[in-house]
Amino acid sequence: MKTSECIQKSEQYLLHTYNRAPVVWERGEGVRLYDADGKEYLDFAAGIAVYALGYGNPAYREALKDQIDKIIHTSNLYYNVPQAEAAEKLVKASGMSKVFFTNSGTEAIEGAIKAARKYAYLRDGSTDHEIIAMRQSFHGRSLGALSVTGNDHYQEPFKPLIGGIRFADFNDLDSVKAQVTDKTCAIILETVQGEGGIFPGTREFLEGIRKLCDERDILMILDEIQCGMGRTGSMFAWQEYGVKPDIMTCAKALGCGIPVGAFVLNEKTAEHSLVPGDHGTTYGGNPLACRAVSTVFDLFESLEIVEHVRKITPYLEQKLEGLVQKYDCFSGRRGKGLMQGLMVEGRPVGEIVGNALKNGLVVISAENNVLRLVPPLIIAEKDVDEMAEKLEASL
Ligand SMILES: *Cc1c(COP(=O)(O)O)cnc(C)c1O
Repeated sequence: MKTSECIQKSEQYLLHTYNRAPVVWERGEGVRLYDADGKEYLDFAAGIAVYALGYGNPAYREALKDQIDKIIHTSNLYYNVPQAEAAEKLVKASGMSKVFFTNSGTEAIEGAIKAARKYAYLRDGSTDHEIIAMRQSFHGRSLGALSVTGNDHYQEPFKPLIGGIRFADFNDLDSVKAQVTDKTCAIILETVQGEGGIFPGTREFLEGIRKLCDERDILMILDEIQCGMGRTGSMFAWQEYGVKPDIMTCAKALGCGIPVGAFVLNEKTAEHSLVPGDHGTTYGGNPLACRAVSTVFDLFESLEIVEHVRKITPYLEQKLEGLVQKYDCFSGRRGKGLMQGLMVEGRPVGEIVGNALKNGLVVISAENNVLRLVPPLIIAEKDVDEMAEKLEASL
């Protein structure tokens, strides 16, 4: 199917919830994407921070093909080997206790909210608990996840949302403390805010939240859906801060292309929250998705992905700082590891994203004034150089 035909058909039959770029992806190889007309692109978006291993890793491909030939789905009424293995690897990588696999990040957030409410319910038997969430956050589009997403524009038409949610300012501990009441059961935040504009949490903020939660028996929920899985230079971003959440959510790069998410509980939360009958999913944790997760953890180890991110980050940051110095339209850089944002000033970020695409570079935006770079974690220095050249040509 030709590009124009695909776009025409998509617009005719798909509900119009995205303003899509006029590109039809056909295949990928390493850090390169190819469109239906055979044009090559350097990818610094990775399907929104998903393709950590790049495209077409042979071991990943073979593992999935092998699993398809065995079994794809079993339901959670029975056991399956990939799920057991993926759970073990996720628990060991995080130092947490138990995993529940979902089909998406949003569903991981839903599960985390339910686990937190159940924990508080078991403690005092009441059902009017509150959750503190952050402004400029993003946790997903379903009604529960949307309720803790600090974006009025996303929320407004869908009210009433779930009750008992209070918002505070990210990286402002006093504003969080001001929202704590006797009813607070959890504080939910991204370790590094993604959609809201690439804001890394500060050490003082995360440590302060941890301390507050410990003092008041409040659960700390860290959303690692975008910043987790090696992206910031450790397996999970919180591991660099010396804090540990009570519940963590994962998705995006967890399956590196196969839809899968998870919420992961520490021992205290796992022992005192969801029990049989409280939560479920038909597809969640199916053998195909979990074979992907399990293979991703193996490849992270054998390819030393986290070490590589740490090594390449200074090079990328230096290149980006150079662009900030050179061009007035960039007012600064924010980010951690391979999750970077350039603040755009005086022109629409969408225009730069569009120009870049024409020049064979895939980048995306965050909020309405940040150019977001979330490349596959396997990028080399020469890819960073090429990105900078193509980006400069797009200004
Ligand atoms: C993408 C994202 C989600 C939602 O994940 P989906 O898989 O799209 O449902 C939630 N939280 C954060 C931080 C995200 O980046």
